[in-house]
Amino acid sequence: MSAHRLSVTEVLAGLVNIPSVNPSLVPSEGTGEAAIAEFACGWLNAHGATAWPEEAAPGRPNVVARIDGGDGPTVVLCAHLDTVGTAGMRIPPFEARVDEDRLYGRGAYDMKGSAAAIMVAMATLAAHHRGGQVMAALVADEEYASVGAFDFVRRHRADACIVTEPAEGDLVLAHKGFVWVEIVAVGRAAHGSRWDLGVSAIGKIGRVVAALEEFDRTELRRRVHPRVGPASLHCALVEGGTGLSTYASECRLKVERRTLPGETPDQVRDELETVVRNAGEDATVETFFSRDPLTCDPQARIVSCVRDAVTEVVGQKPRETGVAYWMDAAVFGAAGIPTVNYGPSGAGAHEAVEWVDVPSVARLADVLVAAVRRFCRR
Ligand SMILES: [Zn+2]
Repeated sequence: MSAHRLSVTEVLAGLVNIPSVNPSLVPSEGTGEAAIAEFACGWLNAHGATAWPEEAAPGRPNVVARIDGGDGPTVVLCAHLDTVGTAGMRIPPFEARVDEDRLYGRGAYDMKGSAAAIMVAMATLAAHHRGGQVMAALVADEEYASVGAFDFVRRHRADACIVTEPAEGDLVLAHKGFVWVEIVAVGRAAHGSRWDLGVSAIGKIGRVVAALEEFDRTELRRRVHPRVGPASLHCALVEGGTGLSTYASECRLKVERRTLPGETPDQVRDELETVVRNAGEDATVETFFSRDPLTCDPQARIVSCVRDAVTEVVGQKPRETGVAYWMDAAVFGAAGIPTVNYGPSGAGAHEAVEWVDVPSVARLADVLVAAVRRFCRR
């Protein structure tokens, strides 16, 4: 076992052993990021980087670290410190256990392995780095509202970013976004016996649901992005009516639309308005939350630096892909920072048994070091 692997294992175990369940996501067990941030800050400062906490929200710190290599570009390495909750887990969530190549615990895979790799990479780079600034962004709250990533891009400028969400060694150049839309239909309340007066808003929404499903099947699934696949929507929540013997005066439908790079929230709303109108209904359509998709130009310098670094460390070029789920990467991308994702292997994110492959974490640390050196080489 290499010294390198020993140190990533030790750092990763340290991170897993400190609960950092997102309190916005799971109020009953949410410990937040304060304790883990203190550990990460202390470790980075003890290993040659300059690290400090930045409050993204009250009690919700990011850990930001810097290695000053003089003039040159700034590159950011990003992982999130929060995890989902532990309900239903079949292993001790906060007692890291190593078995052969696997390290088990809540967050080991999503994504404390990546945070450990960034910390070890920062320590390695701190010993000798020239030609720019390397920053670590160990952020809060990715699992809920990404207040950590948004706070980081508000405070800091950068020329490139490598996000390290688990990706099985693929180089991720795109992911989908999503838009949450509320559709509200108004009926006419009346006593249940008064078919001559009452109009059920639920009936209206029923016809809207049918039209939306048809639109999803016949239009959205044909709209395919080469890296992330088809667009889609689903009817997620519905609420309406006040009692059995009353015609429902209002019905509210919440729809989630997963978007492709290039699609905007306004375009999504306009399209759904058209679907509702074509169904002959007069429901209102409003967007109430959205997250951008990510796309990174495959010719961008950071892409070639990570691609070459992976080839050097792993011995073969990474597969270049996109993923369907949303990541913090889009927050950096939307701030104008060319951003890619490269991360370790494992399984069980948000599930009963979570583990990360330790050699893939050690490789990630090596890839980050090699990519940063390439990026800052003039
Ligand atoms: Zn994650």
